[in-house]
Amino acid sequence: MTSPFENYLQIIDEAAKIIDLSPKVITALQTPNNILESDITISSGKTFKAYRVQFNNARGPYKGGIRFHPEADIEEVKALSALMAIKCAVVNIPLGGGKGGVQCNPKELTEQEIEEISRAWVQAMADHIGDNKDIPAPDVYTNPKIMGYMMDEFEKIHKRNEPGVITGKPLELGGSKGRDTATAQGGVFLLEDYREREGKMPSDLKVSIQGFGNAGFHAARILYNLGYTIVCVSDSSAGISNEAGLDPMALFELKKQYGSFASIPAENLPGTIITNEQVLESVCDVLIPAALDRQIHADNASKIKATIIVELANGPTTPEADAILESNGVVVIPDVLANAGGVTVSYFEWVQNIQNYYWETEEVREKLQRQMLMAFNDILEFSKEHSVSLRKSAFVLAIKKIAKAMELRGRA
Ligand code: NAD
Repeated sequence: MTSPFENYLQIIDEAAKIIDLSPKVITALQTPNNILESDITISSGKTFKAYRVQFNNARGPYKGGIRFHPEADIEEVKALSALMAIKCAVVNIPLGGGKGGVQCNPKELTEQEIEEISRAWVQAMADHIGDNKDIPAPDVYTNPKIMGYMMDEFEKIHKRNEPGVITGKPLELGGSKGRDTATAQGGVFLLEDYREREGKMPSDLKVSIQGFGNAGFHAARILYNLGYTIVCVSDSSAGISNEAGLDPMALFELKKQYGSFASIPAENLPGTIITNEQVLESVCDVLIPAALDRQIHADNASKIKATIIVELANGPTTPEADAILESNGVVVIPDVLANAGGVTVSYFEWVQNIQNYYWETEEVREKLQRQMLMAFNDILEFSKEHSVSLRKSAFVLAIKKIAKAMELRGRA
């Protein structure tokens, strides 16, 4: 299987066949601006690798998450930082790409060690981040509490208040209302728009969802409340299927009570236990991968029954699978658009921090809807006009915006 960065380069190559790009722009789209690496040491004497990759700031400051993960691999982080630059351009928010983290296993660390690592990461990167330079956010195994420590450390070092240095903060420290549900809500806005264009009712559509975390659970809950029928969901332990429909809130309570779907006793199960593979191949109209990358691949793509896929996860479809889905007429709303609600509300958080003026949930929701639907409309039009997939359309339109910004700066 090709690496995520190789997959990214392949999409850039394909997009470059559709639009005319200067060699300088192509190189810039294939190369991070900065790869920052540092060894950090905490009071117990333990040392960890800390890093940050910054990718193309022609459209604005770098933006992207920080992960705490034992197998943090620089190739993957490079790809994720590049995809952040593309994602911000797709939804037209004025930011570049970034990704970073610490090579550690949070499950083996105490709360104090996690705080020390968070502060040490900021000490290592303090000159390279800032509300007009690079704005990190939570990612795998990092959370609002960690963002709070990081903001505090940055402000101590620079001796000023600067909440916009980081997003995904607790509400009390300048976080935005609506951030917790933004990724799922953004994807749902797109699906709703697509459904209306197709002249269908929510009750006409059966939905299967892989993953029941932040993205998957909220998507299931919001769609259920809109009248869609949720026929399959899964967590890492198992899938649950019920053709008549599942109630996500009831499932959430069961998962809380028993720890995982596989541990729910048979008498309390609201459906049948199935495998994760079966969730992907289930009879449904809409498939929402909301867990891991590379789940839809050359071996299972032709078995997918859904006619529309909304990629809430990052990179759930391999390029080989993409080609199979396209030839089978499956519409894929690609990750760089489908899950961009998260970074869009992160951007709103940054805007609110800079103004020191905060919005109510409804205002965030309306602004998110507008941002997502404007991008979707442009992508649908380009896709129709040029007979190319939504993914290629999203990339081409994003690359055009980045290339234009580079040209206007005299960098192209
Ligand atoms: P999360 O940790 O909250 O949830 C992940 C879910 O996936 C859990 O329910 C877990 O049990 C499940 N899972 C893990 N392995 C699985 C497997 N083999 N099969 C089925 N399910 C499995 O994570 P999240 O924040 O919901 O992120 C999910 C995906 O969405 C990731 O790809 C992430 O990069 C992407 N994403 C999330 C956000 C966000 O704001 N949360 C934004 C953009 C993209």
